[in-house]
Amino acid sequence: MASYDVIIIGSGPGGYVCAIRCAQLGLKTACVEGRDTLGGTCLNVGCIPSKALLHATEMLHEAQHNFAKMGLKGKSPSVDWKVMQEYKADTIGQNTKGIEFLFKKNKVDWLKGWGSIPEAGKVKVGDEVHEAKNIVIATGSDVATLPGVEIDEEIVVSSTGALSLPKIPKKMVVIGAGVIGLELGSVYARLGAEVSVIEYLDVITPGMDGEVQKTFQRLLSRQGLDFTMGAAVQGVEVKNKKATVTYKLKKDDSEHTVEADTVLVATGRKPYTDGLGLAELGVEMTQRGQVQTDAHWATNVSGIYAIGDAITGPMLAHKAEDEGMAVAEVIAGKAGHVNYDVIPGVIYTHPEVATVGQTEEQLKDAGIPYKVGKFSFMGNGRAKANFAADGFVKLLAHKDTDRILGAHIIGPMAGDLIHEICVAMEFGAAAEDLALTCHAHPTYSEAVREAALACGDGPIHS
Ligand code: FAD
Repeated sequence: MASYDVIIIGSGPGGYVCAIRCAQLGLKTACVEGRDTLGGTCLNVGCIPSKALLHATEMLHEAQHNFAKMGLKGKSPSVDWKVMQEYKADTIGQNTKGIEFLFKKNKVDWLKGWGSIPEAGKVKVGDEVHEAKNIVIATGSDVATLPGVEIDEEIVVSSTGALSLPKIPKKMVVIGAGVIGLELGSVYARLGAEVSVIEYLDVITPGMDGEVQKTFQRLLSRQGLDFTMGAAVQGVEVKNKKATVTYKLKKDDSEHTVEADTVLVATGRKPYTDGLGLAELGVEMTQRGQVQTDAHWATNVSGIYAIGDAITGPMLAHKAEDEGMAVAEVIAGKAGHVNYDVIPGVIYTHPEVATVGQTEEQLKDAGIPYKVGKFSFMGNGRAKANFAADGFVKLLAHKDTDRILGAHIIGPMAGDLIHEICVAMEFGAAAEDLALTCHAHPTYSEAVREAALACGDGPIHS
């Protein structure tokens, strides 16, 4: 039995970042992880492997569609799925081993195995019980299932199965037009699969800016993704390695079927706290199964904290990381803080989609007077040169004060461009502050500046 200042359960982006920061702040720290490798959902079966496949297939798309236009001639590349999977596995390995290295460097003990909390101040891993002045629950999330749909990870897969399909399907049905479904749907569409997306709502990526949703759906349709909107999936039947998906259209209650080699269930994720013993401990939970925490990530049981996907808020790696750092500081007696108003969200399709702050719909609902500064990438020289002129930057600023309230970008490198606006928002900047900042030419960032100019006297290049 060992005694620690902090034991973190789970080594995803929330847990491992928390562990490293705790150790850096001088706390004796251990992190429990039941998987064979560190890094959680994100590094093993989430952000990192999906981005590797998105990158590889985007390169393929570039080669197939744009190389010849730039005078780059020759045989277009063919896909070796086994090698692409090896590249993905190698990317995961480099990242998970990187966390192992950082644990050693910062003297964080990795307690290997599945942990539980037999009582406050104690963590059990295997047969060993360790003492901990503070415990942080960072056990993340798991795939949410759908009634009538059984995931077998062979024909009917979750995102985890979809990242490692034995072969590229001819026909794939994606249930759910959220971030994960659209990213993985794009991957297989670029690899030649016929991809049909079935979505319950009438819009894709619920909660996003309406204009972005429409443009995004149009661009994905142009890339070959087929959308059936307002459709409630009734069930999936698998026979002779083929799936039949049955759905009802909400508009007229008519029932339809569609066949597929692979069905990806991408209807969301749910918090995962199984086996921790939280009910026995009396830890309060929300109605949605999340661990209930206060503004400092403390649960109702003294000395037990929770962060990341296991608590409320967007299920995003960087949100978990920020909470990990902040709770470490709280435990060390410092002032940990997360600004939930400025958490970007990114979809890594082509083009990328990135968003931060409030949408126009939210501002309208809240009765906040606002102005819109919009700039199309068609007016951006770099985007035109790179065949990446689809999309726009939309900046929302307060009508009276000019303070930036939100930004919504669909276009090249949107996931990187958004951070300039995040920093501006952290500083409480006005759109004019961005408009007056010199931006290097020719860069995609100029589109952000032009959108800021559009909040004032107008952009130059449109
Ligand atoms: P997790 O990463 O889920 O880690 C929790 C860890 O705890 C797991 O390793 C689990 O094994 C371990 N654990 C659980 N219970 C125990 C126990 N009792 N004992 C020991 N260990 C335990 N987010 C982004 O921001 N950007 C993206 O591009 C992105 N892409 C994604 C793509 C996919 C396909 C998926 C599925 C998710 C994606 N996400 C993305 C979401 C992101 O992965 C999660 O928000 C993030 O991993 C949450 O971090 P976490 O630390 O809370 O938990």
